Amino acid sequence: MANYEPPVTDYDSIVENCTCAFCGCNCDDLDYLIKDGHVVGVRHACRLGASKIMEDMDQRLLVPMIRGEDGELAETDWDTALDKAAELIAGAVRPIFYGWSETSIETMHHGLELGELVGAVLDNQATICHGPSLQAVQNAGYPISTLGEVKNRADMCLYTGSNAMNSHPRHMARYSTFPRGYFRPRGRFDRTVVTLDPKYSDTAKMSDIWVGFEQNGDYEFYNAIRAVLKGKKLQKEFISGIPKEDVEELAEAMKNVQFGALFFGLGLTHTLSKQRNIDIAIQMVADLNSYTKWILMPMRGHFNVNGFNIFMAFETGFPYGVDFARGYQRYMNGETNTIDLLTRKECDVFMVIAADPGAHYPGGAVKHLAEIPVIQVDIHWGPSTEIADVVLPGSFVGVEVGGTSYRMDGVPIWMKKAIDKPETCRDDEWIIKEILERVKTIKAEQGALASK
Ligand code: SF4
Repeated sequence: MANYEPPVTDYDSIVENCTCAFCGCNCDDLDYLIKDGHVVGVRHACRLGASKIMEDMDQRLLVPMIRGEDGELAETDWDTALDKAAELIAGAVRPIFYGWSETSIETMHHGLELGELVGAVLDNQATICHGPSLQAVQNAGYPISTLGEVKNRADMCLYTGSNAMNSHPRHMARYSTFPRGYFRPRGRFDRTVVTLDPKYSDTAKMSDIWVGFEQNGDYEFYNAIRAVLKGKKLQKEFISGIPKEDVEELAEAMKNVQFGALFFGLGLTHTLSKQRNIDIAIQMVADLNSYTKWILMPMRGHFNVNGFNIFMAFETGFPYGVDFARGYQRYMNGETNTIDLLTRKECDVFMVIAADPGAHYPGGAVKHLAEIPVIQVDIHWGPSTEIADVVLPGSFVGVEVGGTSYRMDGVPIWMKKAIDKPETCRDDEWIIKEILERVKTIKAEQGALASK
């Protein structure tokens, strides 16, 4: 019991049914315990969610900052910082507005207007995450359901290339494995759980079946399952290191369920052949639907990464990496994605909102970021702050400000406000709107000058 933490009992009020602003599970059953205007405890959240919600004020960005001639960030007032950001954006030739996955749809709305106005590229974390899944969906279809369908119907849940117990800690508890559903009244006892992963992960430990095929063996493995489903004999004795009899047995088990749900993660999107792994997983699900009912779902990471893709697809026809340089939207993977633009050194001004590319981008991309003006809108100090030239402290969606998000299955959720933001911070939506208005003013002045 050495790690036992006693429950928080010293609080003024409880705000119920709040939504967690961490992973794509968007758990909306959280209770925040409030004392003196701060969240001092969170009920029902996992450790990841609770640690984010009870945020560390030591790292909180509280005041606008601009990097001076001496290379140091110095505090400034909001007007000066916003003017500087607007001036940089209005003067850019190839701006990128990146991030968005940890802010609200309402903020994205203004970001899109700004992007169209200045001919920017709008991109989100999908570009380094489930972008290959979006490409595969465009190639092969999207046989998805809501998580409620899984909870009420699924008798086989299969995790592939995903360690949900670590990345989405309440996924198995809320949606897939443990909950009692309408047609699955005994919860866990009514379901078979399978994990396909080279590692014996924490998710594998919770499963009935673990198939530890070789790393980068995904494509071959699903191909073999498809061959078995189509009645073919497997020629090789081992498929990605797994005996062919085991592959045949798994294919037979997958055929004979009533409702199967396949959840996939970065084990597919980040390994060799990337979107082709997901192409073939989608085709495998289509084959399984000749026998019974199967769906598949990407384990989307941030709580609103899916929201950006849904919002952009609705507004522009394309989900991410959308380029307005020619005045209309274009989408070309490998050309208009952030990493490609940065490593080719094409971008001249970068605005990052609710993301930390300084921590999560490959070295070549970060190197270029260090050489160009970077505007950061965020709530935390992080590696991106170290390379930012203008820092605009935003607000915490789902805690300090309300907003819309989309869960991994595409279900929209309103994230309510529970406490007030620090007086010196501003809402993300307000910040982007203010920049937009200031850029419009600069553009109007430039237009007036040009016409003279
Ligand atoms: S599972 Fe995800 S959304 Fe749910 S509480 Fe944990 S981090 Fe938050």
